[in-house]
Amino acid sequence: MPKNETNQMQKIVAWSKRRGFVFPGSEIYGGLANSWDFGPLGAQLKRNIRDLWWQYFVVGRDDILGLDGGILMNPRVWEASGHLAGFNDALIDCKACKSRFRADHLIEEQLNEKVEGKSLAELEKIVQNKALKCPSCKADKLTAPRQFNLMFKTFIGTVEDATSTVYLRPETAQSMFVNFKNILDSTRVSLPFGLAQQGKAFRNEITPGNFIFRVLEFEQMEIEYFIQPADWEKYFKMWEEAMSSWLDLLGIQRSNWSVREHQAQELSHYSKRTIDFEYNFPFGTKELYGLAYRTDFDLRNHEQFSGQNLHYQNPVSGESFIPHVIEPTFGVERSVLAVICDAFEVVTGGRGEASRQEEEVVLRFDRKIAPVKVAIFPLIKKEPLIKAGREVLAGLRNQFKFMANFVIAYDEAGSIGRRYRRQDEIGTPYCVTIDFETLDDQAVTVRDRDTMNQERVKIAELGEWLEEKYG
Ligand code: ATP
Repeated sequence: MPKNETNQMQKIVAWSKRRGFVFPGSEIYGGLANSWDFGPLGAQLKRNIRDLWWQYFVVGRDDILGLDGGILMNPRVWEASGHLAGFNDALIDCKACKSRFRADHLIEEQLNEKVEGKSLAELEKIVQNKALKCPSCKADKLTAPRQFNLMFKTFIGTVEDATSTVYLRPETAQSMFVNFKNILDSTRVSLPFGLAQQGKAFRNEITPGNFIFRVLEFEQMEIEYFIQPADWEKYFKMWEEAMSSWLDLLGIQRSNWSVREHQAQELSHYSKRTIDFEYNFPFGTKELYGLAYRTDFDLRNHEQFSGQNLHYQNPVSGESFIPHVIEPTFGVERSVLAVICDAFEVVTGGRGEASRQEEEVVLRFDRKIAPVKVAIFPLIKKEPLIKAGREVLAGLRNQFKFMANFVIAYDEAGSIGRRYRRQDEIGTPYCVTIDFETLDDQAVTVRDRDTMNQERVKIAELGEWLEEKYG
């Protein structure tokens, strides 16, 4: 896909809505800024990505266990993790037009300078010295930067006061630290091992935007990998490779992503080394995933705040210590967006309809994550083709009933060319057509989305043919 086209994102957003991938949130009420809902195909795509991740990182390995922790946790968790004191963004207001911005984004955009990790005073100095202007109204009436905590607050029970305050978790990571002792007590794991979790996280972002790239409510897939402190470099490398393989598995082209090392001053409060996996989105090269060496920061703090022993005892040497942690973290919405951007192709000149000059959209999703795996069409909407088509559909449904997420579509409306286009637009890898010959030779035509080759396959062998493709 050609990148950085200014209207590429508009095309993607419009396509997402038109084809039922992503809808603006609460739309009939005028929407809710920066909230999005996943439609039928978006929900399936998201699920395919989540399930593939779980399969690859949890089910398919011996050293990782799954966990499903709550969104609400004891508020002491967020004291121990440093989020209450430190999970802040510096924000700047424009006194003229009342717009609000993240100080680091404003400076980075206007001065092309990375300022993550700088103190409030340092940011203020930059804003004043460089006479920055409001990006919205261009006035030079910006306030000094102020700290703003990103955690959403809510209350348990009927009284809304400090004693009933709880927070919507801003990351899934903490339940894996908080349950560390339970895991040691209930399983027979030994180092190195990891815990993995998927689930919602919430951040009151000051400047959300770029479609589903930065939202207030999103899903994370995270792993906390517990290791002996001396081994951290080895496992950091192992996880860098595993994350690269994951991107290959998603079918994201290598040329569209890269790795960026965090500079010392931009490292999070808990991290000794962090790299970002960045994707070349149409709106710029931005963080897709992160890999951080969190040291023993979290377990040590939870041990201190909870008063519980969170040490690990080496079963051979008897040595007792707090394990260190390597954390690969993945955003689900950003995965969905990267996968869409990577697969989205606009073609002209007609795919099989040579006279057409208008643009056609083809989504070249990797087969593993395509929301619809195969579509069945009777050539025309007439008997006995409809009956034959329904039989093929029922046969495949039965054959694939235990293969999770194997979605089969059936479409008998409109010309065959139209129906191919509809499936191309949602990235269906194979379309199966039942024609008059089918009634004689008990075979169907299978058309490949990418090569557009058509192959004649016996109905009796169709399931096996597809099984081979989806292996
Ligand atoms: P950014 O610098 O873009 O704010 P971050 O470094 O704060 O991101 P992490 O705290 O490392 O992000 O979160 C882990 C992952 O969660 C990110 O790599 C990203 O995929 C996802 N993520 C974080 N914030 C958001 C958000 N507001 N909307 C959607 N996904 C997000």
